[in-house]
Amino acid sequence: MDDTEKLIYKYALLNAVKHKGSAQSGAVVGVIMGSHPELRKESKKIVSLAAEITGQVNSLSLDEQKQELEKLGVKETKKEKKQEKSGLADLPNVDGEVVLRFAPNPSGPLHIGHARAAILNQEYVTRYGGKLILRVEDTDPRRVDPDAYQMIPEDLEWMGVKWQDQYIQSDRMEIYHQYARELIELGKAYMCTCPGDEFKKLKDSSQECPHREMSLAENLKLWEEMPGMSEGSVVLRVKTDLDHKNPAIRDWVAMRIVDDEHPRIGDKFRVYPMMNFSVTVDDHLMGVTHVLRGKDHLANSEKQKYLYHHLGWDVPEFIHYGRLKMDDIALSTSQARNGIEEGMYTGWDDPRLGTIRAIGRRGIMPEAIKELMLEIGVKIADSTVSWKKIYGLNRNILEKVANRYFAVLNPQKVTINGLPESLKGTIKRVKHPDFPDRGYRELPFDGEVYLDQDDIENNNGRVLRLMDAVNIKIADEITYHSSSLEDARKEKARIVHWVPVSSNKRVKVMMQDANLLSGFIEPSSDELSVDDIVQLERVGFARLDSVQNSELTFYFAHK
Ligand code: GLU
Repeated sequence: MDDTEKLIYKYALLNAVKHKGSAQSGAVVGVIMGSHPELRKESKKIVSLAAEITGQVNSLSLDEQKQELEKLGVKETKKEKKQEKSGLADLPNVDGEVVLRFAPNPSGPLHIGHARAAILNQEYVTRYGGKLILRVEDTDPRRVDPDAYQMIPEDLEWMGVKWQDQYIQSDRMEIYHQYARELIELGKAYMCTCPGDEFKKLKDSSQECPHREMSLAENLKLWEEMPGMSEGSVVLRVKTDLDHKNPAIRDWVAMRIVDDEHPRIGDKFRVYPMMNFSVTVDDHLMGVTHVLRGKDHLANSEKQKYLYHHLGWDVPEFIHYGRLKMDDIALSTSQARNGIEEGMYTGWDDPRLGTIRAIGRRGIMPEAIKELMLEIGVKIADSTVSWKKIYGLNRNILEKVANRYFAVLNPQKVTINGLPESLKGTIKRVKHPDFPDRGYRELPFDGEVYLDQDDIENNNGRVLRLMDAVNIKIADEITYHSSSLEDARKEKARIVHWVPVSSNKRVKVMMQDANLLSGFIEPSSDELSVDDIVQLERVGFARLDSVQNSELTFYFAHK
């Protein structure tokens, strides 16, 4: 290596270590030009050397890259070290085994908002040992989607989240009933038959309702009668502080009557716990040490503390994180459900949705979602996520993983006039320029090709280079121009992808807006299997979703 090469090597290594093992030659060139202005006059050489050297660096593992840097005597800066350590703060007050839980409501499949709690819980269990509990919170019979019991574990598995214990709250109804009764016996809860609006008036002016001081016997009698009473006529209230500054926290409802059958346990029960009651009982009984939840649950945490104190239980550490705003991601489960029911979306994995299954179907990698969530962490400030951000993270992963293929999605059949016989044959092209050992694709080339209509229309009167093949002149007739890359450069020819007509292999690509494009793909795509993610050159990354009668259907990820 000469000095310039060594310099590029060093910066490529630094860039790779900074980006989890994957350097970008453009960034490397940028840094070199900035710090070594004397090299600017050799920019062409630097650009091509940087491409080559970055490729070599990227074929090393992150550890090897770090070792190489050490050999060069280069120390990572503090900033780089810090960036590399996950941005996730330590858990407060860890003392003994850490027990965490992910507790979704089964109202549908998981969406990207759920991914935060799931992934961060998992990350902490990895950091501290201990265990993660999956608890499906289905104590509101009206908000249960029976399919969710299966979709939630599937979505977690896709994300790589592993849990050690699993509970479904509707299996635990007797436990909630038992603790409700205990609370009455302790004088810490009371049966209240006030009409809702009357109770609200009293509560808002910090006044007791007449039931608060009922005798134990009267309370227990009503509790026994509760299953036979009508919905809305009676609730069990937890005593809190009637002067609490937040009226919502004053004597909150622990148990209520629901008329609807429960989709899972039927009509066995009519008296159901409210979320704050079942969550607290379970978090205690399951030994949860740290509760990660959004700051929209701040008042709930406050409510729950009363219950812990009444029952003489230790309060777990509550960690509240800010909201995740997702500007351009269709998020709400109820909106998605309506759209599916109205036939606007094809299902929970429609490419327009922000569900985990929709994202996965499009070839977004679980690692990208994990990186995103670790970066966002548990901070209390709100964070904003966009597709663009997710695509950036995913691209870093896929650039290495995805092999490349040609697909022409807006095809126009072209016959190249005057193509010398000697140039007909088979064109070989690497599957991945950074990993030549992955081998080659073979494209038969006989002068009949599909080109993208836009490439033809936008280059009328100009020369186009068909990648790794020949240069052609676009006019009323399409004719052979020349064969070398130098000639193409001289002509400032655009370099385009193409597909041989002879292989006649059809492809469809489902775009993010649910528009289904169709065209042709090169014959080597025969070797692909469903779930493979590829880079369709000049089109973007896509995941192979199905193969039917040798026709491939991809779901588009992003450019
Ligand atoms: N099932 C509740 C929810 O998903 C759990 C909230 C919590 O306690 O973290 O909102």
